[in-house]
Formats: sequence, C-alpha cells, structure tokens
Amino acid sequence: MAETRNARAEARDAMPTNFIRQAIDADIVAGKVPKTVVTRFPPEPNGYLHIGHAKSICLNFGIARDYPGAICRLRFDDTNPTRERLDFMEEIQADVRWLGFDWGDRPRHASDYFESLFDYAVRLIESGHAYVCSLGPEEIRACRGTLTEPGRDSPYRSRSVEENLGLFERMRNGEFEEGAHVLRAKIDMASPNMNLRDPVIYRIVHTPHPMTGCAWCVYPMYDFAQALSDAIEGVTHSLCTLEFEDHRPLYEWFLERLEIPSPPRQIEFGRLNLTHTVMSKRYLTRLVEGGHVDGWDDPRMPTIAGMRRRGFTPAALRDFCERVGVTKNDGAVEFERLETSVRAGLETDTRRAMAVLRPLRLVIENYPQDGSEWFEAPNHPADPALGTRRVPFSRELFIENDDFMEDPPRKFFRFAPGREVRLRYACLVTCTGVDRDPRTGETVGIRGRYDPDSRGGKAPDGRKVRGTVHWVCARSGVPATVRLYDRLFRDAAPGRDVKRLAEEINPDSLEVLRSSVIEPSLALASAGERFQFERLGYFVADSETHSNRTPVFNRTVTLRDTWGRQQRRPR
Ligand code: ATP
Ligand code: MG
Repeated sequence: MAETRNARAEARDAMPTNFIRQAIDADIVAGKVPKTVVTRFPPEPNGYLHIGHAKSICLNFGIARDYPGAICRLRFDDTNPTRERLDFMEEIQADVRWLGFDWGDRPRHASDYFESLFDYAVRLIESGHAYVCSLGPEEIRACRGTLTEPGRDSPYRSRSVEENLGLFERMRNGEFEEGAHVLRAKIDMASPNMNLRDPVIYRIVHTPHPMTGCAWCVYPMYDFAQALSDAIEGVTHSLCTLEFEDHRPLYEWFLERLEIPSPPRQIEFGRLNLTHTVMSKRYLTRLVEGGHVDGWDDPRMPTIAGMRRRGFTPAALRDFCERVGVTKNDGAVEFERLETSVRAGLETDTRRAMAVLRPLRLVIENYPQDGSEWFEAPNHPADPALGTRRVPFSRELFIENDDFMEDPPRKFFRFAPGREVRLRYACLVTCTGVDRDPRTGETVGIRGRYDPDSRGGKAPDGRKVRGTVHWVCARSGVPATVRLYDRLFRDAAPGRDVKRLAEEINPDSLEVLRSSVIEPSLALASAGERFQFERLGYFVADSETHSNRTPVFNRTVTLRDTWGRQQRRPR
C-alpha cells in the first residue's frame, strides 16, 4: 500500500510541470473540476499542422495522458467554409496520430454543434443579449472606434426581440445576401476591450461546407463557437495561445449569459516560434500556393508533414516541445535546438552506411584489375545488436570530392599527393597521383596504392594514419539522388511582409545532387527508412519518390551544427 502510494508520488514528481498544469492542480484541489480534466486541440482545417501546433498537441494530449481519467478531444474548428477542406482534416488526423496521440472515439467538429450553437444564439436574442445588425462590414468597422475612442452604437441595436428572432430565422433560411445582416452580441460599444464592442457572432456565408454541405448559410464566429463548443463537450481547461488573452472576457461573457454550469476555464500560453521559418498558416499557404515550395510536406516546411518527410521522428518533436516548455513567453526558439533533439533521437539506433555525395574516382593501382572482396562493417559502432553488413570493394572506388586536395594546408588529413589515408573498414591507401581531363586539365580522379597488410584499416607496424574517409565501390555502388535541405530562410526572423515572402527564401535551402553513389545495401532501403551516412549526416529514403531502382534520400540533419559554425565564420 505504502509502496503504491510512493510509486504514485514518484510518478507525479516525474511528470512534466508548467504553470498550466499547476493551475489545473489548483482547480482540482479547489473542487472546480466536476469529473475529470477535459482538454481539446481545436485546429482550423485550413492548412497542414506546423510545429507550433505540435506544442499545443503535446500540451493538451500530454495532460490527458498524465491526469487520471482525463481526456483530450480533437475538434475541428470548421466555422469558415470558404477556407476549410476535408483533405486538410484527414492530414491533420494523420499528423496527430503520427505524433503519438489519440483522441479516443472520433474527431469532433464545431459543425457537429451547429444546431445547438444556433439555439444558444436564439437564447441570447431572447434574453436581450444579441441583435441583428444590418450595417455593412465597412460601416461596422467604422463604428467600432479605436483604442482611444469609444465606438458608436449601431442604429439597429434597439431592435425588438421579435424582430431580431424573425430576421435571424430568415438569415438561416437563406433569404439574404452575404453581408446584408449579422448577429451581434449586445455588450458595450465603449468598452476599453475592443473585443467587447458588440462583436459579430453570426454571419451569412453562401458557400457549401465540407461537413454540412448546404444545410447552413449562417455560421458562428470563432469566439462564440469556441466558447460554446467547449461548453458542450464538457471541456474543463481550454488552452490557447496568448493572442486570445484579450478575448477571454468575451469567452466568459458568453458562458455567463448562457448560464453554462461548470464553465470551462481559458488559459493562455506563449506561441512557439522558430528562427529561420514562418509559422502562420497564412504565410505557409502563400508558399504552397505560389509554388515556392514542393507542397505542404516539402521537407523545408515547418509543417509536421514536412518534418516527417525530412526524417524527423515523432519522439524528437515531442522531446523538443518538452524542452521548450510551456510559458507565457512568445519568443522564437533557435532552429538548432530542434535539430539537437532530432540528432539525439537518431544517434542511438540509426544504422550506419556509406554514400558518396559528390564522387571522385580513386583507382588503386596495385589492386588486381578484376579483383574484388567484401569488408565487414558494423551497422552501429556502439550497438552490436544491430549487426554487421558486407561492403563490396574493388580496384575502383568513389571518394568524396572534397576529401582530396591537390595542394592542401598542413592540417588536411585526407587525400593529397603522397599522403596516406584510411578507407573506413577497408585498408590504408597512399595517394600517388591525379588523373586529369586531357583537354581541360580538370581533375577527374586520383590514383593510389594500398597496403595489402592493412586489412580492416589497421597499420601493420602501428604507424599513425590520422585521416579516415568513407567510400563506395565504383563497380557495385548504386547511383542515387540526394537532396540536401537547409534553412528555408536565411534571415532568423523572416516574413515581415507576407507579399515579399518568396524573395526571402534561402536560395541554398535545397540542393539536389543527381550523381551521388550509395553502397548496395542502401538501395534496398524502404521508403521512410533512416540511416546515418558516415561522416555526412542522417538521411531518410524519401517517402514519395524513393524506389530501389531510383533511390532518393533526403538529408534530415547534419552530424553537427554546421549552420551555426558557418554563420559565426567571418565572410
Ligand atoms: P496559424 O496562425 O498558424 O494559422 P492558428 O492559431 O490560426 O495558427 P489553429 O488551427 O486555429 O491555427 O490552431 C489550433 C490550435 O493550435 C490553437 O489552440 C492554437 O492556439 C494552437 N497553435 C497555433 N499556432 C501555435 C503556435 N505557434 N504555438 C503554439 N500553439 C499554437
Ligand atoms: Mg486560427
């Protein structure tokens, strides 16, 4: 008994904590949580999810995972049919599942509650808390006032309850054009909080809805739909980002006026922003629709689908969100921190293999013309359980073009005329000369001689050979396409002007290498499989274009933080 209590206390201590969990704990202690904690993740299906959403997902679903009996729902905020799509809903569900979370039975939709939401609006009209306003959108804006000046009452503010009910019903029946009338909450046109100046709560939209088709032509606005969908679902804690702090009084106004028992509590936290990328769907939509990236799942995009295609793991994204934490701080987190989580997750169990991205031919002059052999290579240097593989070797090999310098500085420990280098797992080779194109004089390959007594790469006499390079057999290596990804934007804080966003894209954010060569075992990779290419970084077989006949690999991340180093180096 004591033991289980201790175990429970220990589990609680090990639970991540943050100010939101502390607020929930306090509410539980104060008896404000009637049954169990209920949270929700409410994306608008107008685009793909991004890493910012991942933070919200980890927060909301993490609470459901850690509190006894708690649940987190996935609820689509589908109140704007002009921008929302079914395929976005499907992708969002796939992304949340991929991240490792589940919402139990079925996804919910604000549109599931359209009938109830309409009834709530009718109740607000009946109690004198809402009215149909027939000003146009421009006029409504003009009457709203400013931060320093109060707004002006709409001339329709004093319409009778009967007239309001009649008009609202006719709005619903499709008798009016878009913009002819709206339903507004009757609050206070002089409120210092602009959100309380008789906000619009229903508007007319004549666009078919992805879920309800043509059943409706009046749609609730965000604040109204959010507060009451939360209430209908029994949400206890409605977690949202800081920009909704000023909307909280409106959220609470709806719940009070409609006398919702055990009303949900809204708590705001800081958005996640990342350096060198943009995070709003408006910006991301622009990149996609303008054709500036290869779709929502372009591996340079900060979308969950893009990161998946780039080879990031769900565990790495969860780890990153955990490390970033939940605070009231909106600042941008360095992209390098995300990469650190990705590397840390891949280090322990990703198989090693050799690939040459920019090949240079090496001919080993003292190796038999038609000879060949295999070298045994471990799949992971620290984990024998991952086994070994056989890497073919012959007289002609490829090495990385920049592992050779004809006229190197002293500290260059790779190939240069007269220098001895280790071919990883294979043998020691001394560079004896350079092959040139007879017309252009360009270096097209190098020559070398190997030490037949250095099998496995060990010097027979213990002499010191400092450099080790990777290589691929020219005869059995397989041609491959390799795509190198870098920061989507050079600038750490891009996107000041959405119209000029495309001009800010880092021209080196994608480099496609079409003449890379990979060791044969890599050609057997299945799409989505990850490897560490020795000395180069982590790579993933592309989920859409890779096949065993035409291998395509995406670079997930380099082995070290090369970006930071490059930026610090004086130009
Ligand atoms: P965007 O501005 O990118 O379109 P949004 O807030 O309009 O984002 P929604 O689909 O409405 O997108 O968001 C669903 C949930 O995800 C909301 O609760 C929102 O607060 C949260 N969310 C969105 N962006 C971030 C972010 N950058 N960091 C943390 N949470 C976020
Ligand atoms: Mg939104």
